[in-house]
Amino acid sequence: MIIIKTPKEIEILREGGKRLATVLYKVKDMVKPGISTWELDKYAEKLIKDMGDEPAFLNYRPEGADFAYPASLCVSVNNEVVHGIPNKGKILQEGDIVSLDLGLKHENLFTDMAITVPVGEISKSSTKLIEVTEKALIVGIDMACGGNRVGDIGNAIENFVRRHKYGIVEVLSGHGVGRAIHEDPYIPNFGKANTGVKLTLGMVIAIEPMLNNGTKNVVLDKDGYTFRTADGKKSAHFEHTILITEGEPEILTKI
Ligand code: MG
Repeated sequence: MIIIKTPKEIEILREGGKRLATVLYKVKDMVKPGISTWELDKYAEKLIKDMGDEPAFLNYRPEGADFAYPASLCVSVNNEVVHGIPNKGKILQEGDIVSLDLGLKHENLFTDMAITVPVGEISKSSTKLIEVTEKALIVGIDMACGGNRVGDIGNAIENFVRRHKYGIVEVLSGHGVGRAIHEDPYIPNFGKANTGVKLTLGMVIAIEPMLNNGTKNVVLDKDGYTFRTADGKKSAHFEHTILITEGEPEILTKI
């Protein structure tokens, strides 16, 4: 069921999105060679709690999962696509790329955001992968106008990415968000124009392209959460929470 948010809820989501973006960019500033993914997680958690909010992913148990997610932040390094579990022993190295995915609950409403950032100096191919993935998100957001359909978003992302020959992850997708961290509808990063659910005023969705520098195929780790590229090549991920209006989409996860 698609939940249309009330004007009051939209106000709260706007504030939550701003707080989430503020936290995530602060965590981004901590990324450097030698820091552990665990330290990034603890920092994100502290910033969120200090504001009186709650991390949305901590103890979240997705359908079918054997255990709840044990951290606030998803930290996915290099060939990890999404849902990497922070670990004290996992130290970022010069040349890595790292996806930081964070959800925040503010006054009982959820927003969701991800960025991929370089660790120190990175290769040209990694830089390009990050740039194209961020651009793919913008291309998708541009289609999230009231009156368009979900398929228009995926179609625009797919058409844009095709010229770069990256693999678009298909088994994971964007989603509605707001009263829960994952709501209907799914927002795939591929698809046919003018198909799927119609976007209407008050819908709130997370758009989140995941692009691989190789095959689109991913494998799930034994830890039950971490998705990796099947060929071991690097992957990047960007996400914003978006409000559908009657006209241009509004990015809620911004400072
Ligand atoms: Mg998400």
